[in-house]
Order: sequence, then C-alpha cells, then structure tokens
Amino acid sequence: MSTQAEKPNLTRRQFLAAGCAAASGAALGLAATTPAGAAESAGAPDIDPGYVGPQFFDKQEEQALLEVLEAGSPFRYWGPGRPLKVQRFEEGFARHMGARFALGVTSGTAALDCAMAALDIGPGDEVIVPAYTWWSDYTCVVHAGALPVFAEIDRTLNLDPADFERKITPRTRAVIAVHLLGGPCEMDAILEIARRRKLAVVEDCAQCVGGSYKGKKLGSLGDIGIYSFQINKTMTSGEGGALVTSDPLLYERAARFHDMGTIRQLFLDRIGAPGRAPMFAGENFRMNELTGAVLGAQLAKLDTMVGQLRRHALAIYDGIRDTPGIRLRQRPDPAGDIGYSVFFEMKDKESRDRCIRELRNRKAPASPLGGSVLLPIEESVVNKRARHPNWPSFLSPEGRAMRYGPECCPRTLGIYDRFVQVRVGAKYTQRIDDYLIQAIRETHRQFA
Ligand SMILES: *Cc1c(COP(=O)(O)O)cnc(C)c1O
Repeated sequence: MSTQAEKPNLTRRQFLAAGCAAASGAALGLAATTPAGAAESAGAPDIDPGYVGPQFFDKQEEQALLEVLEAGSPFRYWGPGRPLKVQRFEEGFARHMGARFALGVTSGTAALDCAMAALDIGPGDEVIVPAYTWWSDYTCVVHAGALPVFAEIDRTLNLDPADFERKITPRTRAVIAVHLLGGPCEMDAILEIARRRKLAVVEDCAQCVGGSYKGKKLGSLGDIGIYSFQINKTMTSGEGGALVTSDPLLYERAARFHDMGTIRQLFLDRIGAPGRAPMFAGENFRMNELTGAVLGAQLAKLDTMVGQLRRHALAIYDGIRDTPGIRLRQRPDPAGDIGYSVFFEMKDKESRDRCIRELRNRKAPASPLGGSVLLPIEESVVNKRARHPNWPSFLSPEGRAMRYGPECCPRTLGIYDRFVQVRVGAKYTQRIDDYLIQAIRETHRQFA
C-alpha cells in the first residue's frame, strides 16, 4: 500500500464534504426558506419531504468511504488490508432486525430472488403476492419459474389476510407479505394462516425499513425478510439490499445463490455447522465494500431517521383524526409505522382527484398512492410475458388457466382510486406539520 502522503486526502475530503453539503442543502430547502423564504409571504412554507437517507449523510459516511478508498479494498472477500465493511454491516443489521443472520446483496430485487432460491420455490409452485406492490414481488416468482397468484389489499393498503387464505391451493408454497408505504401488514393474521396451511412467509420490508410490528422489527417475524437501500427507501446507498433469516439452512441457500452457488467459510462460521445444502447454479449479487461502508454509517442513524419521520406523521395524524367523516389508513400497529406518508380515503375517485389538486395548489406534497404498480392490470402481466415464450410459470395447467386483469383484484383497484397520500419529511418543522394539518382538514371538508 502506498503511503498516506501520496494520497490527495484533502482534495478528496473537501470534494466529499462539498457534495454532502450540496445534497443536504437541497434536501433541506425548506429549512433554508423557513421562516424568511419567498413562499412564506404567500402563507405556505416551502415543503419538500426530500430523500430520507441522504438527508443524514455526514462525516460518518465520508469517513467510512475514505477508509475503503485509502485501503484500496472495494471487494468484500479480499484485497489489501482486511475488508470488513460488508461483514460488519451484515452483523449489525442482523442484530438491529432481531434475526440470527443477514446477507448484504446488490438490491431488494436480488434479495427477493435469493429468498425464492432459499425456499426452493420453482416450477409447479404458487406464491401469493398482493395485487398492489412493486414489480420485484412478481418478477422474483416468475424468475423462479413459479406462478404468481394475486390477493387483494384492504384498508391497511397491504395484503388482506382473508383474501390471502382464499387464494391458497394445494400448490401454494409461500406468501410475500409486503409492508407497503411505511406501514406493517396484519402480521398476526397472516402468520396464523401461513402456519396452519404450512406456507413460508417472506416479508418484503423494502418500503418499511426500520418499521416494527407489536415490538418486533419487520423482517424478523416471517421465515425470511428482505430490504432495499435504493434512494427512495429509508437508509440508502443509492442501490443495495439485504436479506435476514434465523434459519441456518435458508441462510446457507441464500448465501449460495447470491454467490454463483458457492459458499465462503464466513457464512459457514456464522451458521456454526458444516453446510447442509449442495452447490447449485446461482447468481452474483455480492455487495461491495463501498456500499457496505455507506450502509454501516446509515444503519447507525436508522432509528433517528425513523423516529423523526414517525414524530411528524403522528403529529399530522393526530391533527386530522377528528376531522368529521375522515377515513384514515387502517394501521395494524401505528407505533410500528415508519411514517413515510399520511393516508386517507375519499368517497370516490373524482373527489380524491379534486382533493389532491387542491392540496397541490396549497403546495402540499399530495398524490395518489405511489411507488408501486397495480400489477394484475399491467400489459406484460395480463399477457403473461416472461423472457421466453415457453417459460415454466405459465406452461403448467394452472399457469395456462390463470387470468390476470382487473377481474382478479376489483377491491384493490377501488381502494387505489380512493386514497390520498401526503408525504412526510424527516426534516419537517412543526410549522409544516401544522400547515399540512390545516390544509388536509379544509380540503377534506370541501370534497368529502
Ligand atoms: C423498491 C422495492 C423493491 C426492490 O428493491 P430494489 O432495491 O429497487 O431492487 C422490492 N419491493 C418493494 C415493495 C419495493 O418498494
């Protein structure tokens, strides 16, 4: 390794520091314009919820990244020095989530693919997925060669346990319980049904990283939990993902799948036993040390990020809950919700659209539900198009008979059409909370 003196430390540090300042300055635009900004005179504070993770970038991410750069060790398994960023991140993440094992991977989508491989899900199997969620919950099932079966969401905006049970067949192997839009699923009911019917539960916590359900961290309740660290989620490294489990065999199979089918001694040491799973064809979803460095620093701030989001969301919910006739999102554990947004339901799509238009006129960050897709009505899903026309998912008798489209999720489509989402920012001020409360109360009254 070359000496410290040869390295342009100052320049690099200054560059990173300037970048961090610019990024957080943009994200904190509201702080800069409150209380004396231009919008102030018009009566509305400047409201920009921003991206949560980057709002917390500081010297800790910078220092951790510099350590990797200065060591010249961006690869997790070898290189100069002893690369430990990903390894330490995995250990800290497992501890934080209350699971025995964690695996760092390249994305939440990759983590879902690992989950399907770990559970040995393949052709002939069915996996139940909510009709409204992100693409990856559907693509992981298709890539496994299994058949995705959609279940309705309910007013939690997550999987309806009763419809999940109705969709079980003798071929069902697993359910993906997605904690969407910052709010946990009805986990007691989902776990009870899954145990009784002997199904595996994968928790997709990509949109609820750091959330909990009745005191347990999301991801630790089912057989496998997955997370995303893409910029729109909570803690972030731009891209990245993780999987947690407390089952040594599932962990071994996930670790194998994420690394071509091979397994490193590190993972065998963690499970504390010789491996039980033979090698099989895998992928390369290995996390690099630069990502591990950023995530290690972000993990230390996760409770703070979630705490701040939660505080503002709870304040806004408290301020609007006695609005006459308002129907808030049903929250199975409000204390476990990460407070990504506040949600309420209007009587129909027309009043929802008017409500959103008026809130936007008032500079409130209001929108229909966002960040996911109504999967059963997407053209490529309706037409069961995989990457090859003879893909096994849709070749079985059940796959051929499967009819996706609006008929398979009418309730989900209705709920989607009626809900309003108002984003929450970790860096909001009390003045912004109060402004949003008043805007929501008045707008709701106008269009209810
Ligand atoms: C973002 C997301 C994923 C996938 O994560 P990536 O890191 O973007 O691959 C999976 N599930 C849900 C619900 C998501 O929101």
